[in-house]
Amino acid sequence: MWLGKLRKSKQKPWELKWPKEPIKIVGIYVSYDYVKANNLNTARPIENLKTCLKFWKTRDLTLAGRIQIIKTLGISRMQYLLSMVDVSKAKLREINKILYDFLWRGLDRIARHTSIGCKMKGGLNMPDIFTVNKAIRIDWIRRYCDQSIKHPWKLFLDKMLKPLGGIHLLLKCNFNIDKLQHKITGFLHTMLKTWTDIKIEIPPTKTNKIVNESIIWNNKNITVAGKSVYYPEFVNAGLMYVKQMYKDNGQKQTWNYIQNKGVPSSSILRWFGLVNAIPKVQIVNTQVNHVEDINLIFGDESLKLRDCTTRNVYHKMINSIFIRPRTEIYFIHLFEINIDCWEEFYQLPVKCTIDSKLRDFQFKILHKILVTNINLVKMKPPRVENALCTFCQKEDETLVHLFCECSYVKFFWENFFMLWGNKLKMQHRPKQWQIILGDPEVSCLVNFLILLGKRFVYISKCKQNKPDFIDFKRYVQSIQNIELAIADRKNKLAAHNKKWGNFLKLTT
Ligand SMILES: [Zn+2]
Repeated sequence: MWLGKLRKSKQKPWELKWPKEPIKIVGIYVSYDYVKANNLNTARPIENLKTCLKFWKTRDLTLAGRIQIIKTLGISRMQYLLSMVDVSKAKLREINKILYDFLWRGLDRIARHTSIGCKMKGGLNMPDIFTVNKAIRIDWIRRYCDQSIKHPWKLFLDKMLKPLGGIHLLLKCNFNIDKLQHKITGFLHTMLKTWTDIKIEIPPTKTNKIVNESIIWNNKNITVAGKSVYYPEFVNAGLMYVKQMYKDNGQKQTWNYIQNKGVPSSSILRWFGLVNAIPKVQIVNTQVNHVEDINLIFGDESLKLRDCTTRNVYHKMINSIFIRPRTEIYFIHLFEINIDCWEEFYQLPVKCTIDSKLRDFQFKILHKILVTNINLVKMKPPRVENALCTFCQKEDETLVHLFCECSYVKFFWENFFMLWGNKLKMQHRPKQWQIILGDPEVSCLVNFLILLGKRFVYISKCKQNKPDFIDFKRYVQSIQNIELAIADRKNKLAAHNKKWGNFLKLTT
């Protein structure tokens, strides 16, 4: 393939192959036809992703299981592609849709900005392909700036950035990629654009130090003929910050000031252009504080450039866009309780059971996405005749009715308390919020048994049986036996006995 100025050459010397179609180098198609190469690069990975997830869709996996598949078979495959090619937004959206379709097997059940959060905060740890893409690009900037890594690819970028003062200066500047004095193209454009997109700046005000302490060069707010400027002769004379353009009395500096610092007379027009371009600001003080570190700022938090690995940037970005589950407010109003630390509630199922299906079950309750007759009746076609409770047929089957208010279930919990309350050192009958959300203040075993109770009620509902406490005792016994067998195999009998305590012989 001809390169550079000769790229349109039609000569075919040295009896070599001179391809017109995109050529493949280390798994990536390269061509002057960007659209064609991009399509070739993304088409096959997307197709492979679809096929792979289709195979796993048939398995009965928990939400956590499906996310594990998305991470190991989905995102890891895409990561190489994203770090090599500038994948278009439309393609990213397509990939994202495939991943979410796999997760929910249809419509989303909880908001995407919630599901991407960590499990501690009520999220699912669902990877966000857009954020992964941005984090990878920022990592490339970190690698480019890391002077301990020497590589020829950096020379191309150095050459492109030289008229703007180099990458280290540029990243400290408040720049807009499209307003720069010299055009930046290709991969470098993508990297720098991501940098400015992520950086959340504090809006400047008259008294805000951000304006007068910001760097003059490549500044999107200081433009001459619509473009930001970089004049090396002024930089060499020591001119860097906006506040250096002002005297102590608040007047702007004169040409003599800068000329005395060794700027040639030929730059006089540049000087007046610059003076006119500087916005009027209130100077707090004219002492100069040099900005040493390059930081990526996410709202209140920031990250030093040398720490901007894909992983770090990803987590910081996710934290800044995560939205807390809407159900938190719903439950607080419903039960009229005050909960400060939801993290403890989200952690409860992880602490009290190793059964991933049981954890999944509680997650669905906490996010109000467990299917009841209310949901089944709305399906097309409806799966049940009406939304009434399976057991009593008197009221709508809401989560609270199904697990707490129904007369049959009330009787179930009454038995639970009468028979086991003393042994479990329970002070009172479990309250509605304790049944639905769990209670971090009581022991793991109590939470575990309540969780098992809820699942038992739910299984009874699915089988159209009334919840029978004698069956539940057998159910608990079987779970205990399974846990005993697992503990025995893993040599963790002590932990098992500690968990079940004096309850071990209770169910026999
Ligand atoms: Zn009922």
